[in-house]
Amino acid sequence: MARTGGKGLSLARRLYTSRILGLVLGLLCVSVAMYPLDPPKWVWVLMFFNGLIWPHLAFQWARRAAVPFHAEHRNLLIDAFMGGCWVAAMHFNPLPSAMTVSMMAMNNVAIGGPRFLLAGTAAQVLGVAVGLVVFAPAFVPLTTPAQLYACLPLLMLYPLALGWICFRQAYTLGVHKRELLALSRTDSLTGLLNHGAWKDQLEIEFQRCRLQQKGAAIALIDIDHFKSINDTYGHVAGDIVLRQLSKMLKHNLRAADVAGRYGGDEFCVILPDLPLFNAAQAMEALRERFAILGYDQNPALKVSLSIGLAALDPGHTDATRWLNDADQALYEAKAGGRNRVICCSDSPPRLEVLGSV
Ligand code: GH3
Ligand code: MG
Repeated sequence: MARTGGKGLSLARRLYTSRILGLVLGLLCVSVAMYPLDPPKWVWVLMFFNGLIWPHLAFQWARRAAVPFHAEHRNLLIDAFMGGCWVAAMHFNPLPSAMTVSMMAMNNVAIGGPRFLLAGTAAQVLGVAVGLVVFAPAFVPLTTPAQLYACLPLLMLYPLALGWICFRQAYTLGVHKRELLALSRTDSLTGLLNHGAWKDQLEIEFQRCRLQQKGAAIALIDIDHFKSINDTYGHVAGDIVLRQLSKMLKHNLRAADVAGRYGGDEFCVILPDLPLFNAAQAMEALRERFAILGYDQNPALKVSLSIGLAALDPGHTDATRWLNDADQALYEAKAGGRNRVICCSDSPPRLEVLGSV
């Protein structure tokens, strides 16, 4: 049965198009160079086979291989070997010979780098050696005008096609790289920044505030008794709660605010250029809104939040100290009975209760 999903299938597809173009144009080049030499019939058959049938055969061979990548490397070595044979068969006619060697070298280095260029060159040398034995060529250092014109399409079109293929590949790789980077920074359950990405943002915000002498606040938000929500309603319901909170953060914060999932049932927000009092008001509104939220699957479920807030102050020599203050405030919110917002505004922390049941 044909196997179609192996490693290197996309390489085989890319090479299919470029091989068809290169070998058809190469056939024009070689056949015009060979015509005055009046080669036997089997050479014409081989030439047309190589130019018109081999690209399709090579693709099918690679497509059906367990590892198309390896099959394509073998096919490229066959290309190089055949190129070497045609160079000898053309009696080393300078222009078509140089074209054959250089186009294949360009192909090989683009696909497999210097190592594959070396392997391809070895295959070409072997092809020339076999060609020397089979065709016993004389060295003819002359290219006629007709042979020159026959080489022009290959000379002009093939580098263009290969350049286009390389550009497309680089573009696709760039898109994939950006997607992977975004994935590596995103929490898959909530779509918010993950722990590492949020802490990177915190560091950036800390440096920005220090440089521009601006203020900012950070909030650590923890769901109360989340473990018992999981135990009572199940982990799927727990996940819904986490997603609801992230949705609320996305919709209720300013565009400049940066929300993330710190881990488990803990979330974190950077509130740039916001005095602590206003930041506390925003978090208090969030706490109140979340507390009255209903859940379709579990109407009895009500979830509260504990929130610790800390403003950046001159005593914070690094972002970690700032974060520690918010963590301390969150700890006080939990210790004080949960479902409340606590601000740590000074160092050592001065804690204020803003809201509670
Ligand atoms: P507290 O009020 O003190 O915050 O208590 P708590 O139960 O919320 O805190 P605790 O740290 O004991 O429990 C957090 C729970 O969150 C434990 C863990 O199983 C659960 N959890 C962590 N990540 C996920 C998740 O992605 N989905 C769900 N459903 N649960 C999670
Ligand atoms: Mg919790």
